[in-house]
Amino acid sequence: MEKKQFQAESKKLLDMVINSIYSKREVFLRELISNASDAIDKLYYRALTDQNMTFNKEDYYIRIIPNKEERTLTILDTGIGMTKEELESNLGTIARSGSFNFKEEHEMKDGYDIIGQFGVGFYAAFMVADRVTVVSKSIDSDKAYKWESTGPDGYTIEPATKETVGTEIILQLKENTEEDNYDEYLEEYRLKQIVKKYSDFIRYPIKMDVTER
Ligand code: ADP
Ligand code: MG
Repeated sequence: MEKKQFQAESKKLLDMVINSIYSKREVFLRELISNASDAIDKLYYRALTDQNMTFNKEDYYIRIIPNKEERTLTILDTGIGMTKEELESNLGTIARSGSFNFKEEHEMKDGYDIIGQFGVGFYAAFMVADRVTVVSKSIDSDKAYKWESTGPDGYTIEPATKETVGTEIILQLKENTEEDNYDEYLEEYRLKQIVKKYSDFIRYPIKMDVTER
């Protein structure tokens, strides 16, 4: 399978994120939950204007699934999903203005403030994961696709199987080292703590499945 390259700006940001300091890494969850919530918002607004769509409040939620055996953390949403093209354009490039432009004018190497204050969005996943897999099915497509990346060297996209509309982000957590422990992101209490700290205001239910070893 062909490996596609990230846009140059994205590659720079990714490098910075990967080397970010430990204490700020927990914000990856804030970023992914905020994206999940945005995606549900989009579906909600679509339902408001589309008479053929029914809207059941119970159908919209975010789910966090830690798996200790696989050392994966999955963040799933029942939002609008992404088409193949959207996976490519939204995750392969940093098209948005906000934090990244600000950063360009300032010191690129000092990632601390940028990550803490502005957020780095989706790429924050690479602070804790060495492989990020996104399986998504858009409301506008009957096909699902899998986007996968192991970091700045690029990403792949291929067809996938997913029954329901929405997005699943699977983080393969980095290996623990002497200084850094990533297993904390598989612990229920720790995940709850991070969610409470950063995502308390999210309007959709955030559920958690726990797989014990
Ligand atoms: P931002 O949220 O500021 O736009 P991100 O880097 O967090 O930037 O996300 C980039 C884009 O990827 C989003 O704007 C959105 O289009 C898409 N995206 C990310 N996560 C999801 C998701 N869970 N569901 C649908 N689209 C998503
Ligand atoms: Mg975001």
